[in-house]
Amino acid sequence: MNKRPFQGGLDQLPISSSEHIHLPALTGGVASMLLALKYQADDSQWWTGDRLRSMQYSQLRELLNSAWQGVPFYRDRLQKAGYHPRRKLTGKIWRRIPILRRADLQREGSRLANKAYPRSHGRLTSSQSSGSTGMPVRITASELSQYVTSALSLRVHDWHRQDLTGRLAIIRYLPGPPPAAPPDGLRSEFWSEATRYLYRTGPSFSLDVSTPIEAQAAWLLRVDPHYLLTYPNNLRALINYFQAQGLTLPALRQVQAISETLSPEVRALCRNQWGVSVVDGYSAQETGLLALQCPDHDHLHVQSEAALLEVLDGSGRPCKIGESGRVVVTTLHNFAMPLIRYEIGDYAEVGEQCDCGRGLPVLKRVLGRSRNMLRLADGRRLWPRLGIIQFSGAAGVPIRQAQVIQRSLEQVELRLVSEAPLDAAQESAVVEVLRTALGYPFEVEVRYLESIPRSKSGKYEDFVSEI
Ligand SMILES: [Zn+2]
Repeated sequence: MNKRPFQGGLDQLPISSSEHIHLPALTGGVASMLLALKYQADDSQWWTGDRLRSMQYSQLRELLNSAWQGVPFYRDRLQKAGYHPRRKLTGKIWRRIPILRRADLQREGSRLANKAYPRSHGRLTSSQSSGSTGMPVRITASELSQYVTSALSLRVHDWHRQDLTGRLAIIRYLPGPPPAAPPDGLRSEFWSEATRYLYRTGPSFSLDVSTPIEAQAAWLLRVDPHYLLTYPNNLRALINYFQAQGLTLPALRQVQAISETLSPEVRALCRNQWGVSVVDGYSAQETGLLALQCPDHDHLHVQSEAALLEVLDGSGRPCKIGESGRVVVTTLHNFAMPLIRYEIGDYAEVGEQCDCGRGLPVLKRVLGRSRNMLRLADGRRLWPRLGIIQFSGAAGVPIRQAQVIQRSLEQVELRLVSEAPLDAAQESAVVEVLRTALGYPFEVEVRYLESIPRSKSGKYEDFVSEI
């Protein structure tokens, strides 16, 4: 046995445990990895756009070379685009790589799994994304890519000055197991998987979004949360219910919106009725968090350390500031099943560089799916702004839910869930408001329903075009 005193460098220090160490915290394993990633992300948010782009390109080359080796589908596409592992990756070559569509993912399936997957990137997990179109795709992700997205997801706490010792209420699609069913939902001692390794957080409470609004409200009053995370449409229903019943959430400091498009109307409603702001984010099941609201503005910053996000116009060119186009995403770290130029199905508007100093690109707003676009007879396509408040105002009775289905270029169906049945005059007033919002004198068929269900993924769509 060697009895000589330890003389090696720090890398040979035989520390295997951080027992009894509180100041400074000495972490290991997962916590160290997350902290290291977070430390770098705290710095890279301030990089210039050019520097971020150049670092992304060197990461992209690694991804493309691995896909070249291990996924024949991509090798073929890359070759045709003029790429070769020994050549420099230029913007011109990049833009020649064909767009990967959801149908490609479904058709190719397990053939997109990378045979050259580096084992050092950890175990694989598989998840299924149902999507609002109901066509499921299966995504396999590496442990490493999940570390990166988890570390970046911690940004919301810093950027929006959240106090992690508070109580967090989560109302979202949570079918279980175990189900987060009413009346009690589920309770956890930490906020999220990412925070549990790094912080002593307050508790979080979860409830499935299919819970009726009355039961959600009763649950929220018991939880008395400091923070609430839910879908914008559910938030609106909650605020209206609280207002109608004269209820308040005295401890609430902030709401975090997920999944659906957050309208300025819901933002303002929350500010006016509950006196708190809403933090917006943009994520997809296939990719994780893609953009997060700026600490100083309502617009979103792309999470460039995890993904290259392109916004492309109808002819495949990058949109300029102020233009809207298709969102195309390349995840930078998932070598298990590379997603290279994946058209995610959403549309977004490109914003100008932010004055907060962050170099992360700006999305002025995310507009939703193409199926949420209105089509007009003159060829225009646009996202209608439907105000449920205006419907209620016109009807003179509270409208609880509204949804518009475009059947043809001439006809739409208006689905209403109202507190009391509307008479002919009230109904025609609502129809007039709708025609004004759509900017065209559509033939409107009104249907009254008990409730309007969410899609399988928990999303709620105000407007769906069936054309
Ligand atoms: Zn900013």
